[in-house]
Amino acid sequence: MTVVKRRISILGATGSIGLNTLDVIRRHPDRFSVSALTASTSVDAMVELCREFHPQYAVMADETAAVALTHALADMPSVTVLSGPEGLSQVAGDSDADTVMAAIVGAAGLPPTLAAVRAGKRVLLANKEALVMSGKLFMDAVAASGAEVLPIDSEHNAIFQCMPADRIRDTRGAGITRILLTASGGPFRTHSAESLRSVLPAEACAHPNWSMGQKISVDSATLMNKGLELIEACWLFNTTPEMIEVHVHPESIIHSMVEYADGSVLAQLGSPDMRTPIANGLAWPERIDAGVAPLDLFRIGRFHFERPDLERFPCLRLAAEAFHKGGTAPAVLNAANEEAVAAFLAGNLCFADIPLIIERTLSATEVVSADSFDTIFAKDAEARSVAREQILGLTV
Ligand code: NAD
Ligand code: MG
Repeated sequence: MTVVKRRISILGATGSIGLNTLDVIRRHPDRFSVSALTASTSVDAMVELCREFHPQYAVMADETAAVALTHALADMPSVTVLSGPEGLSQVAGDSDADTVMAAIVGAAGLPPTLAAVRAGKRVLLANKEALVMSGKLFMDAVAASGAEVLPIDSEHNAIFQCMPADRIRDTRGAGITRILLTASGGPFRTHSAESLRSVLPAEACAHPNWSMGQKISVDSATLMNKGLELIEACWLFNTTPEMIEVHVHPESIIHSMVEYADGSVLAQLGSPDMRTPIANGLAWPERIDAGVAPLDLFRIGRFHFERPDLERFPCLRLAAEAFHKGGTAPAVLNAANEEAVAAFLAGNLCFADIPLIIERTLSATEVVSADSFDTIFAKDAEARSVAREQILGLTV
C-alpha cells in the first residue's frame, strides 16, 4: 500500500499540543515532513525544533524573538525566519503545507487558522477559541474553501470518531439523538465554594489527568473549558446545546459519547494522551501508532459519572447563555475569559472571581450581529478593555 505523504505546518509548535504533534510526526518520517513551525517568544525551544525537523519556515510572533532566532539559525540557511501576525498567516495559508495544526492558544490563533481554512488546507483544530469567537463565519469560510477541518480537542475527536464520517454536520439525519460530552471536573471538582476563593495558580494548573498549557488548565478548573467545548461542538456538528449533555467523568477514559435513535451509545475510550486525537487527525482516515500506552481497564476498574455543579462552576452556564445570545456574545465571553485567566495566573484576581468578571463583561458589552471578522476583532478588543477595568475594580 502506498503511504500518503503529508507536509505539516504547526502553529504553536512549542506548546503542549505542538510538542505532542511533533512527537507523533517523529515516529513517522515516511509519512510526515514539517513545512513550518511557529511560536510566540520561546527562541531556545524553536532553535532545537528547527535543528531536528528542518522546516522551510520558522515564525516567531514576537519581533525581538524573530531577530534572536535569525541569529541562532545563521548556520541553517534552509530555514527562512519570519515574524509577527503576517508571518503566521503566511505560513498557515501560502506555504507548501497540505495540513496545518492550529495549536496557538487563544484569540491570537484565529487569523492564521482562518488563513489555513481559506487556503483549503486540512486544518487540525486544537485552537477552540478561534471557532468559539467566530462560529458561523468560521464554518462559512470552511464551506466556501472546502477546507477539511478535523477536531483535535479530545472530546470532539471522540464524537467525530463515533459518527458516520459523511454525516458529521447532519446529526439528525444520521439518527443521532444526543451527544454526551465528558468532562474530568478539573482539580477542584470536590472543593467547596468557599475554598475556591483561596486556590493558587499552581493548584489550578495541576490537572489530575491531562498535562496541558496553563490557560486551558485554568479553563478546565473553572469548567470554562467545557463551556468553550459546548460551543465548539455546536458549530462543528451543526447542533445546539440542548442536544449536548455534559457528563463529569473523573477518570477521563471515555472521551465522549454519541447516542442514536435506536438506543445505541457509541463511546471512544483511551488513555488521556493528546497524541491519540492528534494521530487520528494527522493520518485520517488511516490509523497510525501514536506512542500511546495501551488502555488497562483492569487497573482503572471503575467509571464514575456526575452532573456538573453550575453553582460552584458557573462558567459552563455562562458559555451556554452566550451561545444562545448569539452574535458577538461568544467572542466577548472568550475575550473576558482570556483576560480573567491571565489576571488570575499573574496573581491579580481570585479564582472564584473569574466567572464574575466574565458575567460583568458580558452584561456591559453590547451584543451586535457577527457580520464580519472585523466586527469580531473589534468586539474582542472592546471586551478585553471592559474586562481589564472590571479586574482593576475588584483588586483595588
Ligand atoms: P500552550 O500554552 O502549551 O502553547 C501555546 C502555543 O501557542 C505555544 O507554542 C506559544 O508559543 C504559542 N502562542 C502563544 N501565544 C501566542 C501568540 N500571541 N501568537 C502566536 N503564538 C502564540 O497551549 P496548549 O495547551 O498547547 O493549547 C493550545 C490550544 O489547543 C489551545 O487553544 C487549547 O485550548 C487547545 N487544546 C489543548 C489541549 C491540551 O491538551 N493541551 C487539549 C485540547 C485543546
Ligand atoms: Mg477537550
